[in-house]
Amino acid sequence: MLPLKLFKNARLLSPNDLGRQDLLVAGNKIAAIAPQLSQGDSNFPIEVIDATDFYLTPGLVDSLVHFIGGGGEGGFASRTPEMMLTDATLAGVTTAIGVLGTDATTRTLSNLLAKAWALETEGISTWCHTGSYQVPCRTLLGSITDDLILIDKFIGVGEIAISDHRSSQPTLEELRKVAAQARVGGMLAGKSGIVSVHVGSGASLLEPLHQAVAGTELSLRQFYPTHINRNQALLNAGFAFAAAGAVIDFTTSTTSYDLQHGEIAAAEALAQAINRGICSSQLTMSSDGNASLPIFNSSGQLLGLEVGKISSLWQSVRSAVLDWQVPLPTALATVTSSPANILGLAEKGRLQPGLDADLLLIRCDDLVIDSVFAKGKSLVRSGKAVVKGTFE
Ligand code: ZN
Repeated sequence: MLPLKLFKNARLLSPNDLGRQDLLVAGNKIAAIAPQLSQGDSNFPIEVIDATDFYLTPGLVDSLVHFIGGGGEGGFASRTPEMMLTDATLAGVTTAIGVLGTDATTRTLSNLLAKAWALETEGISTWCHTGSYQVPCRTLLGSITDDLILIDKFIGVGEIAISDHRSSQPTLEELRKVAAQARVGGMLAGKSGIVSVHVGSGASLLEPLHQAVAGTELSLRQFYPTHINRNQALLNAGFAFAAAGAVIDFTTSTTSYDLQHGEIAAAEALAQAINRGICSSQLTMSSDGNASLPIFNSSGQLLGLEVGKISSLWQSVRSAVLDWQVPLPTALATVTSSPANILGLAEKGRLQPGLDADLLLIRCDDLVIDSVFAKGKSLVRSGKAVVKGTFE
């Protein structure tokens, strides 16, 4: 029979605060949630976990991870390494969306798909976007639409770069074509068909997206712009974008150099957005894990390079709550239910019977991740990985 796990007396955040609840896992699914569940008289083998001191939450959904590595802006030696399974699991991430980055020549979509399958085999859930920074996009089957319809793991396209010196300087017509192909492919495959957009530090901010939509049947909701906390001007443009009904994403990986030069930490950006009355369903945070974080001077010369960390995702949730007084369910929604909804991942990001048993136990006293379960399997206990990737 399916392995059973019973979490007793947890403070359940679905991400909404449901108070004290028990939660039963059967196999890879959440089977039941109720104030009192018991094993009764049955002799079924069941693992009972006392969750009295913990929040029980959905596993984190990280909507943008360079899990095959990225970078290369400083030459070949600056290409960043691949992500390992425990990088994600120790960070509480049970669903990761992989993308290419600046380099779509030595980093390929076939490599991205293979890594997605590897991580899935090792224990977490993964999807990817087809396409590339550059437009016309890299694809596997010759078109964005075909890739979305015929390849299970592709759920959207991107990250497409705009307002950035590393972009292909896409025209409005090119942006419209990408969005149109993604929309049709997404509709026919029953997927989100979202267009992930990397927004750089260029002065045009989000203007190319507004202009791409103007005079067409496209909607701003087709686009999912990220790195919106790069500077205050872009953040303000992001607030206007959200006020028009669209969604925005803040990047949690950062460097002290960036923070000293105008970047707003994701936790602070989230607090600003919430204080402006933007709904958490329109706000997400993503780690940009394993991206290169190149430091350029004002004339575009590379000064240094660091690597994005997937662990920054939960650290930013903690900081939003502890340093910026964002309510925990609100901050949690931006890394669980909100990205799952935007990406069309119906089994992810919430605690509800019938959905995937991706679960975190978070210590109530200091908001540190204690245990991680993905599709019902225990991957982290007491902060230690109990399952490792093939080469860890
Ligand atoms: Zn990016």
